[in-house]
Amino acid sequence: MTTVIHQQLRFVIDEIDKAIDSHQQWYQRLLRVLVSRVAPDEKDLKNDAHKSCEFGEWLYTSHIELIQEHPTFVSLEIAHEKMHRKAKQLIELVVSDQAIPVSLFDEFNDYLEKMRTQFQALRHEFADLVQNLDPLTGAQTRAGMQAELNKEHALAKRSQQPSALAMLDLDHFKQVNDNYGHSVGDEVLIKTVACLQHVLRPYDQLYRYGGEEFLICMPNTTLEQAEHVAERIRSMIAEQQIIYDKEGNTLQVTASIGVTSLDPAYSVDDAINKVDEAMYEAKAAGRNLVKVRYLQLVVLLKRPGEDACDFVTLIHINLFYLSSPQFLN
Ligand code: GH3
Ligand code: MG
Ligand code: MG
Repeated sequence: MTTVIHQQLRFVIDEIDKAIDSHQQWYQRLLRVLVSRVAPDEKDLKNDAHKSCEFGEWLYTSHIELIQEHPTFVSLEIAHEKMHRKAKQLIELVVSDQAIPVSLFDEFNDYLEKMRTQFQALRHEFADLVQNLDPLTGAQTRAGMQAELNKEHALAKRSQQPSALAMLDLDHFKQVNDNYGHSVGDEVLIKTVACLQHVLRPYDQLYRYGGEEFLICMPNTTLEQAEHVAERIRSMIAEQQIIYDKEGNTLQVTASIGVTSLDPAYSVDDAINKVDEAMYEAKAAGRNLVKVRYLQLVVLLKRPGEDACDFVTLIHINLFYLSSPQFLN
């Protein structure tokens, strides 16, 4: 699945490049019509001219999920259609030998400029995505991880929405390499990521944190929900039969998973340390397990009328239970 995403991204980048190119050529031809009064292309005079140009044909027939709901693509589509409508009006005026009002030409240029900016923004976004994908598994690399986690952390703070992290490490993976060879080990990594992609939602982020270690960021997810997701991942990996030879023989692997919250009260680094500790707890407890590490809140209590230093009580409150419905009710 991730390889598909990788291929789709490359395909989309190629298409954007082609679209930028073909629109530049289309613009040159339009200038010849407007300035030198050469005969226009009939397609540009149609009401659905935006669907007949090379980019339009691709845009309205492609069914790539990645772009269909992408906000920049949606506004590019709108600017593209409006730009073609303005171009049609310009051509009609030229053909009927009328002067072109400056306002109309400016409006046309504005839409054209908007389109160019959006094309470039998309190209950068998709190129960055491809660059930050691990070529073996298709998971994101650590390159952009910190920045993305900081963004998610800030969003969690602003919106008061819970976010969770999970750290997954394959168990005894060295033995897979030793017993079956490195390329089978690679195949196991690919299949593990395929499993993860199957369970995770489109807006969850998956990073290859180390060789056989993966970090998952789950926005808008409580610790309890994250634990369930991790449990689904754990059991799916454990059940997966991975074919390792031409005879169809299979092997199975397991994973240890740690889970914690990306709590705004603590730093991103604290959360990563916690989730790592939780994962090691799962290893120590026998592997093929999910362990949750709750962040703890330390509250200082002062009795009325007493100095804070005279009497201080430390209470460790489990944030998970504090925020759980049972506690609140
Ligand atoms: P544990 O259960 O304690 O995690 O044991 P482990 O064997 O999984 O852990 P260890 O850190 O000893 O070994 C990890 C292995 O992962 C060693 C390394 O060669 C292998 N590895 C790392 N990256 C890759 C890769 O891209 N492909 C393959 N095939 N193996 C890799
Ligand atoms: Mg391991
Ligand atoms: Mg490891």
